Amino acid sequence: MSEFKTVRGMRDFLSDEAEMLRYVEGTARRVAGLYGYEEIVTPVVESYELLAAKAGEEVRSRMFVFKDLGGRDVALRPEFTASVARLVATTLRNEPRPFRLFSVGAVYRYDEPQRGRYREFWQSNYELMGSKRPEADAEIMLLTDSLMRKAGLNRFAFKIGHVGVLRGILNQEKVEDKTQSAVMQLMDKKQYDEALRKVEDAGVSRECMTVLRRLVEFSGKDVLAVAGEIGVLVEGYEKAVEAAKNLREILGLLLESGCKTEMTVEAGFARGLEYYTGLIFEVYVPDMDIALGGGGRYDRLIELFGGEPTPAVGVAHGIDRIMLGVQTQKNAQRLEKAKSAMVIPIKEELRGEALKIAQMLRDASVMVEVEVMGRKMAKALEDADRRKMDYAVIVGERELKEEAVVIRNLRKRVQETVKIQRMTERMENQSTA
Ligand code: AMP
Repeated sequence: MSEFKTVRGMRDFLSDEAEMLRYVEGTARRVAGLYGYEEIVTPVVESYELLAAKAGEEVRSRMFVFKDLGGRDVALRPEFTASVARLVATTLRNEPRPFRLFSVGAVYRYDEPQRGRYREFWQSNYELMGSKRPEADAEIMLLTDSLMRKAGLNRFAFKIGHVGVLRGILNQEKVEDKTQSAVMQLMDKKQYDEALRKVEDAGVSRECMTVLRRLVEFSGKDVLAVAGEIGVLVEGYEKAVEAAKNLREILGLLLESGCKTEMTVEAGFARGLEYYTGLIFEVYVPDMDIALGGGGRYDRLIELFGGEPTPAVGVAHGIDRIMLGVQTQKNAQRLEKAKSAMVIPIKEELRGEALKIAQMLRDASVMVEVEVMGRKMAKALEDADRRKMDYAVIVGERELKEEAVVIRNLRKRVQETVKIQRMTERMENQSTA
């Protein structure tokens, strides 16, 4: 039989990576708690129709689609928003607004595998539904800011745009929705020339082309000023002017809230998902040119799924990419780890005592492995070392008579006899660094 491998784009997470994944996931959950987002768990498999409804051609073409045994067209979720929108349009329909909903888990896209791009990856997803006000947009960016910091990133930046600017212009120029989406997708891939050509082919005015040419290149870090200038640039396109004003308001609130994170406004910034209607943003770290998270406002999605008109703003973070980011930023905090100990009975007759002591340590939140290979002391200590344990707890007859054990600090290579009652106290007072 040939040797089995994981399917292309799928990965195994062994100990360290699994721990890091759960750490970032746990951090995302804590941030959700701090901001009042309730966790919901939705299925990995949803109807193709639901997931395809507004995903945008890009994501749609990369879904894992199949027929289940009942002949239903289903797919693995490529993101969370459609599932959340389904819930809000149905089960949660009559609940009081706003909703703050959080999800975390694996999502699936048939992307071309490379560093930071996988076919199974993890997202944390936050949706704030029911408010069309700029403070809701600001909140989604602020919680993203909190998550990045708490996960251990110390350098990252926001890239910010507003779909309403471009849509405002194209709508007033009577460019079809479908063409608009195609234009956005080209812009998302930074194919600005092709995007502009497509707009030109749609028969827009000369002034429109002039405005768009200036707009796609327009960006800057003095974000309030840039948003203001965009407003001037698009004069005459009423909805686009409104959009620029909305962008300026959101940025104003962010700055007032004390957010010090670097921001760049890019007027030509677009995102692949079709459902955005307002603010859009992504998070980047300096040494990686892939986004760690992205989100924005989508005011019409819930209606599309048959719900009450519900303005909404949300964000999805790539947990795998946050992990990569944390690894690349050298002075990132180390994960807080529980103290660890290997409990080793000196002889067979003391196995029961060793198990008992192990249970006592676990009750005091020490991570414990018990020696189960029947190794002699020297070999057992070697093994504990290899497993990067902080301590070895040696259970011997002589010490037991005095209700004590030997605790060996494996990092410092020193040991002492300690009363059983005081084991954890000793471990806490000692550094293993
Ligand atoms: P999107 O909804 O496409 O903006 O995705 C949200 C976030 O998910 C992105 O900012 C990435 O961090 C992450 N992400 C998207 N696609 C992948 C992928 N193929 N592999 C790993 N992470 C991804």
